[in-house]
Amino acid sequence: MKAIIWGSCGSLPAPSTSESIRQKVRDAIWGAREHSFENLDAVDAYLETLPHCERGTYKANTSCVQIQAKSDDFIFCDAGTGLRDFALSQSKDAPPATYHIFISHLHWDHIQGFPFFTPAYKAGNRIIFHGFHKDTERAIRAQMEAPCFPVPFEAMQADIEFDIRENGASFQVDDVQVTTIKQQHPGDSWGYCFEEHGKRIIFSSDSEHGPEARDEGYRFVDFFRDADVLIFDGQYTFEEATNEKRNWGHSDHMTAVELSARSKVRQLIVFHHEPAYSDADIEEIHKDALRYNEDYNQRISKDTNCKTYPQRIELAFDGLEIEA
Ligand SMILES: [Zn+2]
Ligand SMILES: [Zn+2]
Repeated sequence: MKAIIWGSCGSLPAPSTSESIRQKVRDAIWGAREHSFENLDAVDAYLETLPHCERGTYKANTSCVQIQAKSDDFIFCDAGTGLRDFALSQSKDAPPATYHIFISHLHWDHIQGFPFFTPAYKAGNRIIFHGFHKDTERAIRAQMEAPCFPVPFEAMQADIEFDIRENGASFQVDDVQVTTIKQQHPGDSWGYCFEEHGKRIIFSSDSEHGPEARDEGYRFVDFFRDADVLIFDGQYTFEEATNEKRNWGHSDHMTAVELSARSKVRQLIVFHHEPAYSDADIEEIHKDALRYNEDYNQRISKDTNCKTYPQRIELAFDGLEIEA
């Protein structure tokens, strides 16, 4: 099983500006002033040595993650603008298919890609929204109403269903078991754990963890336990999450590390980036989290030979693929 990040930016799309791209190009050219390149492969090899913030970006599309399982059906978490890039990557002549979209919640950054999802306009396709918010159908339809959008929901030719359950419910897509957890976020949000043949990928975005996260027996430690991949809301710095942005419904990089270590998560992917931060700012916050991970693991593994967790921590970016 594999997770493919199609949209990782929080709150709204925040693509790089011309000025920030120019700065990256300028820095890369300056950094290469003593290199000579025989061919483009050598240029590519040089680019690989640069930090991601200098050759790419962390923030473009809003929330959308594909869970690639053995099933022929497509599985997504959220329908932010990343969903459109997925659609663009597919052949126009793709055969009819079933698309499952598990919705964390209905804030705009998690649904705004759906009006641009071309498979929804094609008869023969089947799209099923899974989730918990009673007004999911109303929200999906409303964002396509005049005067906000030129094409009404009714123009979509696919068979579109809304599978809305009560809190605590789980789902199944072929061999993929989907368990769920209610999260702390304005208007509530839900996290999803996808499990197939012993591999587990967890999507837990737009979720705040207050002081109760330090309690022994904290329910998220159980939910995250032994995950192969945890995609976790790290929009804020620890200082922001605990002070001025407390109760805004998001978490931070340090809490991501701490909960992953306690839950023995193998790979932590920090997601839902703060759109106001530059790519370099996000990498700086990430470096603090990596240092904290080392300290934290040294403390909890003192005098023991136990393995430390998480074994890998990465910042999500559009196009990142993570094997469970
Ligand atoms: Zn969000
Ligand atoms: Zn939200």
